[in-house]
Amino acid sequence: MLLFSDVASVFEEIEKRSGRLEMTDVLATLLVRADAAEIGELIYLLQGIVAPPYLGIDLGVGERFAIAAIASASGYAPGEVEKDYKKSGDLGDTAEALLRKRKQTALSTTEMGVEYVYDAMLRLAKASGPGSQDAKIKHLTELLNNASPIEARYIVRFVLGRLRLGVGDPTILDSLSVAKAGDRSMRESLERAYNVCSDMGYVARTLYTKPETIQSFHVQPFKPLMPALAEREDSPKSIIARLGRCGVEMKYDGFRLQCHKLGEKVELYSRKLERMTDMFPDVVKEARKLKTEGIIFEGEALAYDKKKGRYFPFQQTMHRRRKHGIEEASIEFPLNLFVFDILYLDGADMTGESYRSRRAAIQRIFKGKVLQPSQMKLVRTAKELKVIFDDAVSKGLEGIMAKDLEAHYTAGKRKFAWIKLKKSYGKAVDTIDGVVVGYYLGRGQRAEFEFGGVLVAVFNPDSGKLETVAKCATGFTEDEMVSLRETLEKMKTAKPPPNLEYNIEVDYWVEPKFVVEVAFDDITQSPNHTCAMSEGKGLALRFPRMVKMREDKTIKEITTSDEVRRMFELQRAKS
Ligand code: AMP
Repeated sequence: MLLFSDVASVFEEIEKRSGRLEMTDVLATLLVRADAAEIGELIYLLQGIVAPPYLGIDLGVGERFAIAAIASASGYAPGEVEKDYKKSGDLGDTAEALLRKRKQTALSTTEMGVEYVYDAMLRLAKASGPGSQDAKIKHLTELLNNASPIEARYIVRFVLGRLRLGVGDPTILDSLSVAKAGDRSMRESLERAYNVCSDMGYVARTLYTKPETIQSFHVQPFKPLMPALAEREDSPKSIIARLGRCGVEMKYDGFRLQCHKLGEKVELYSRKLERMTDMFPDVVKEARKLKTEGIIFEGEALAYDKKKGRYFPFQQTMHRRRKHGIEEASIEFPLNLFVFDILYLDGADMTGESYRSRRAAIQRIFKGKVLQPSQMKLVRTAKELKVIFDDAVSKGLEGIMAKDLEAHYTAGKRKFAWIKLKKSYGKAVDTIDGVVVGYYLGRGQRAEFEFGGVLVAVFNPDSGKLETVAKCATGFTEDEMVSLRETLEKMKTAKPPPNLEYNIEVDYWVEPKFVVEVAFDDITQSPNHTCAMSEGKGLALRFPRMVKMREDKTIKEITTSDEVRRMFELQRAKS
């Protein structure tokens, strides 16, 4: 049995390191000691979750409850806990400090194994209904009564959703491979397994019980896949240069849905892998009617504006559903789901098939109106591609998606299997998706909103670091400023994200979770930013402005530093 105290001391060790290789080795020494019955739980704890996201089991413990539990476990008054928290800026540190000076000792303490701690967290997360708040405090107090000061530090951070060890999924996957194979040789198959089921606990359990099946890990209904991501090019010519003859689909600005069906049971998931089944009863009803026993498919859902004879864009589609109620909205604003991929069919994993044959299956299966194939044409030349692109834009769509006919479905990866060409093509402006890592208080005219803009970062998958690319202070409506500040205020942290490379300060750091789409005129080099840093200068967006809050996107989907670098090079080549 792995003791939680051992886990906590490895966490402490990891916090002192910053290099990914070092962290991998330290973590592997822990993973190697776990047995098959506890490895899944240990992985969830490391990820700072109690279950994969699509099960919707969130911890939901607010600071107030944590303060109450720390108070009763340490014997200090809640006011004293708060006072220490004001100084430390981290309730985990406060719990540790106060438990060190504990005014009372628990009558008996249990030695806590990983499973014990995990089960307690799960009970805490699942407590709901009347009296659940008290139950949460009670569970947490019990845990803290049994905990050493160091254990308490991590338990408190965990329940608040602020574990922040700086080990991301890639590092955990590396460590699993090192723990089992002694090196990184299993890394690729582990990553694929994770990308097709989005449940690293499950992958780790499989690795510890049936390691031989990891190599041929299959897609399964009701375990959503991480969505495949698109690369970008900036002209029809460059797309054809890359793909040659390809399939060109309309790019719909809707809500991406992954639909799983087995027999009568249907579930829908968002691109963030949240369960969305209850939001789209119209899609569920149609999916049930499909003449296949088991299927997983993906598409873009859009509401139709009968008056204008056009589709509503994404933001409006969702707004209407919230405002008018789900059932009413599905009658008044009927939805279409444009199916653009199929990932599983009657027991067969389709992700290894070519796009060409997946597309043939789509044409065969989807004949209805609500669920219909996305529009697709085969093209050979840049000229043909441009005609389709212009047609898409004239219809008010976002652009096109060009698809490699021979490519597999690359779950969770950004590959040139899909290439987007957006409306911005040919214009000076372009956009990136970045994550907010901090924000500024308003000054001058903005003072009344207490909001002066955000610091935005992109991701460097090679180093696992977030790198800043823009300080974005315009493009917000007044309402957006108010709501953004409220959202960010809840995500405030005392320290910057542990994997952030930065050269400028902010008024407040936040958990790197909130994704925004930022438009800009061009890219320049600046010592203030750290994106694709070379010779002391990073890349920075010029005249950055907020286009959209992308609440539908996760940090996994943000633009990479390498993409920004390529955009910079394209821009240089043009001028
Ligand atoms: P972007 O969010 O700009 O990176 O573009 C990728 C997104 O476009 C995907 O995640 C889908 O939600 C959406 N999309 C719209 N139409 C299509 C299509 N025909 N094929 C694939 N993705 C599409």
